[in-house]
Amino acid sequence: MRKQIAAANWKMNLTYQQGEKLLDDILTAKIPLAPHQQVIFTVPYPYLIMANSAVANENNYAVAAQNCYHKKSGAFTGEVSTEMLQSIGIKYCVIGHSERREYFAESNQQLAEKIDLLLEKSIQPIFCCGEALSIREAGTQNNWVETQLKESLFHLQPGDMEKVIIAYEPIWAIGTGKTASAAQAQEMHEFIRSIIQQKYGTAIADNLSILYGGSVKGANAGEIFAGPDVDGGLVGGASLVAEEFIAIIKALK
Ligand code: PEP
Repeated sequence: MRKQIAAANWKMNLTYQQGEKLLDDILTAKIPLAPHQQVIFTVPYPYLIMANSAVANENNYAVAAQNCYHKKSGAFTGEVSTEMLQSIGIKYCVIGHSERREYFAESNQQLAEKIDLLLEKSIQPIFCCGEALSIREAGTQNNWVETQLKESLFHLQPGDMEKVIIAYEPIWAIGTGKTASAAQAQEMHEFIRSIIQQKYGTAIADNLSILYGGSVKGANAGEIFAGPDVDGGLVGGASLVAEEFIAIIKALK
């Protein structure tokens, strides 16, 4: 069975101490998890080492960076390279979050470069895609997402594509309290899997984890994750509250 993942995205929230406590609260809950279920904490750069050591003895828990730079190294003050992430033992990195696309003008092409640099360092990308409200209202969301996938991922060889995790996050549902319906999420996830299947074949498409993101909380996670093509979620706001995130983890298939 493909991996079912609850990924927390802390964004630019929590102090170091609050982050430590949140991790402790979640880990001490000792949630029973099957081998195919995984929890990933996507934390700010200064907390990566602390978070990685907090989960070091836990089988189903890992840590992700929220971003990386699209160049290898050099005079890029303030940026963090994939080599740096690898050197502190990071195994996952979120890229292409809609906030980065919008506020930092990240392009599909830059994301393709990030994907290559991450895979070169054996870090699994969690690639975010998703449409704005105007695109959804115009009914062109499938074309939009297909272009994002094609321009950032479709240069990959099959052996690399199978390491990618996709997070579908309709922008109109992120942090707005407005969740896509379970049917809307399933419909887009099925479409994404079909696009991957056309390019990379059934085995890779069937194994690909596709997460849903957009106002997931304890109360709606079960319904959303029930979609056959929905393999868990990327969760912002609700991942900052231990009881909420614990409920989301427990809702994994
Ligand atoms: C996100 O940050 O990726 C996200 C989906 O946020 P929220 O759960 O708060 O909508």
